[in-house]
Amino acid sequence: MHKALKHRGIKRLWAPMVTTDGAGVTLRRSIGTGTVSHLDPFLLFDHFGSSNPEEYIAGFPMHPHRGIQTVTYMLKGKIRHRDSVGNSGVIEAGGVQWMTAGSGILHEEMPEMTEGRLEGFQLWVNLRSNEKMSEPGYQEFSAVDVPLERAGDGVKVKVIAGKFDGLEGPVRGVSGAPAYFDISIKGNKAFEFELRGDRAVFGYVYRGGLKIESFDDNEAQAPEALEFKSGGDAISLRATEDGASVLVIAGSPIREPIARYGPFVMNTEEEIKATLEELRNGTFIKDD
Ligand code: MN
Repeated sequence: MHKALKHRGIKRLWAPMVTTDGAGVTLRRSIGTGTVSHLDPFLLFDHFGSSNPEEYIAGFPMHPHRGIQTVTYMLKGKIRHRDSVGNSGVIEAGGVQWMTAGSGILHEEMPEMTEGRLEGFQLWVNLRSNEKMSEPGYQEFSAVDVPLERAGDGVKVKVIAGKFDGLEGPVRGVSGAPAYFDISIKGNKAFEFELRGDRAVFGYVYRGGLKIESFDDNEAQAPEALEFKSGGDAISLRATEDGASVLVIAGSPIREPIARYGPFVMNTEEEIKATLEELRNGTFIKDD
């Protein structure tokens, strides 16, 4: 077993805000709200999920992005993606798309089914100032590409990005080398794993609950987000009797100024103004 690990405690717990985005998709937003505007390097975190097609069918028609990475991880249903660079594909249950908008893309993200349940997550990861105008690109993987680790008694870890116990997620070579784990823990089971203290870490409980001893209600019940303290080198999770499904996402803080306007995240207001001007005059997409 490992040397004794120092656990990172919980810094805060909060409930997502219910909102709509795109052409009318109902979602729960945990990062990118008045409560938690950003959690460097993360700029936005959405959980969309409904069995009512009216809450998702309008999707996210053609829209631009610049200066960020967007990460879509699907639990149920399908999203078809199409972009100005000529890429297209379908993200299915268990699949992930890691898109680097860089200098700019236009894309659409549309549910491919008209009935049944659609559920997934979208995370925005910031880019450093010297990467914001880089060439756009994306990586897409299906469920079979995502390694699954049975980590002891009653714990399963899907490694989407980063390294876990000798496994490496399929998403590689992206800015900041983030980690993205989908962890399920059976009722009353506990689980700890190493995660360096110099990285920002947040969790999102999307099923069941976690026992959190240091907080008043002593539990984080789905849907709820939590931020781990800096320092220490391990994350410790304990499921309530119902068990828990939790995303744990880690990244290195960028510590640069943030100027954001909708789908654009730059360092200065001037860069945002220039972006809007380029959209107006048709020079937003850099195609060479
Ligand atoms: Mn988008």
